[in-house]
Amino acid sequence: MSRVLIIGAGGVAAVTVKKCARLPQYFDEIYLASRTVSKCEALQKEVGEDRVKGVFALDADNAKEVEDLINQVKPELVINLALPYQDLPIMDACLATKTHYLDTANYEPKDEAKFEYSWQWEYQKKFEDAGIMALLGSGFDPGVTNLFTAYAAKHHFDEIHYLDIVDCNGGDHGQAFATNFNPEINIREITQRGKFWENGEWKETDPLSVREDLDYQNIGVRASYLMYHEELESLVKHFPSLKRARFWMTFGDAYLTHLRVLEAVGMTRIDPIEFQGQQVVPLEFLKAVLPNPGSLAEGYTGMTCIGTYITGVKDGKEKTIFVFNNCDHAKTNEEVGAQAVSYTTGVPAMIGSMLMLNGTWMKPGVWNMEQFDPDPFLDQLNQHGLPWQVIECDESPFKR
Ligand code: NDP
Repeated sequence: MSRVLIIGAGGVAAVTVKKCARLPQYFDEIYLASRTVSKCEALQKEVGEDRVKGVFALDADNAKEVEDLINQVKPELVINLALPYQDLPIMDACLATKTHYLDTANYEPKDEAKFEYSWQWEYQKKFEDAGIMALLGSGFDPGVTNLFTAYAAKHHFDEIHYLDIVDCNGGDHGQAFATNFNPEINIREITQRGKFWENGEWKETDPLSVREDLDYQNIGVRASYLMYHEELESLVKHFPSLKRARFWMTFGDAYLTHLRVLEAVGMTRIDPIEFQGQQVVPLEFLKAVLPNPGSLAEGYTGMTCIGTYITGVKDGKEKTIFVFNNCDHAKTNEEVGAQAVSYTTGVPAMIGSMLMLNGTWMKPGVWNMEQFDPDPFLDQLNQHGLPWQVIECDESPFKR
């Protein structure tokens, strides 16, 4: 029996709240806080006041405000589903109140896109000394992709050597241009330089300049572009046998054309500009005019395929496996009124929380997902709407 405080009330949080609400044996009392309290109230109305016991307006950039709310609610765990900018203030508040912490994205400073864990890893000793735990990146990628890698290393290989994480959204939401999660974070991620790990060092590429056409299960061939993604940093640290680790995401031509135009005219800039006497960050303004990812669910067709290709050695022989999940936008909409990208993030956030609260994954300190036994989590994934599969490949689809 546990009390949780969920921070954020966007596309991902809506899924986590609804999933947690169905499991009173783990999430006895749910409290919800976010910048715009009306979004919390709407979710509370949908789920019921008997499950979401209280809602609060909160500016989670302010650690003291978060600390005061934690002292008021007294949760065992804070589930941070706001934006990466809020990770550190929320972790500070958890430290001050000795409360466990979980998130789905690494901390980001507002003025520079970094996508790295350094700031949060700094909290390892402080969390350990306080006897509390932080679970970092409990979404799909990062999150489940880390566990697919850990599962492969545990059950299928003596040593893993090559890792390619692939993220395909084969769906169609019918909009000219929209992102499937927070537009500001998504566009920061896509427009940064590409980076991958090879032979003990990071190598950089121009943004979206390296392409492979990959065949995705139940979707077909899609153009896939190499980009940097945060789980690569923790995976190469925790699996030092990796000779190469890369991340690929699919983009359609129309999406890329829109993105290039937006970049060319300066709309993806993250530095403030002066506009009519006010400081405006172009990307924040762009976010305000783009469709809200949470609103895309109705009429969204097709599915996602996210997984990891892993090549390694077993009993002296090289082999490749693909561990993946397909998630259908229409089915997730039917189940919880959300599109598949919110769903594939919100469900792992619920499962990570469940495993912390029931003690399966409880250990003081700051941890990435692959530092725990992947099996209990992957079992739960099968039970809560995200079944996964393993395919033995004849050969890796990637050129060496
Ligand atoms: P949304 O923009 O839909 O939701 C973010 C929520 O956080 C909004 O309710 C927003 O409030 C709230 N928020 C923003 N700033 C603050 C603040 N200062 N204080 C309190 N609340 C605040 O984003 P998503 O739901 O799409 O994404 C949520 C998180 O999940 C992001 O960090 C994203 O990077 C991560 N993510 C992780 C994935 C993974 O696989 N690991 C995949 C997809 C997303 P308001 O309503 O006022 O804007």
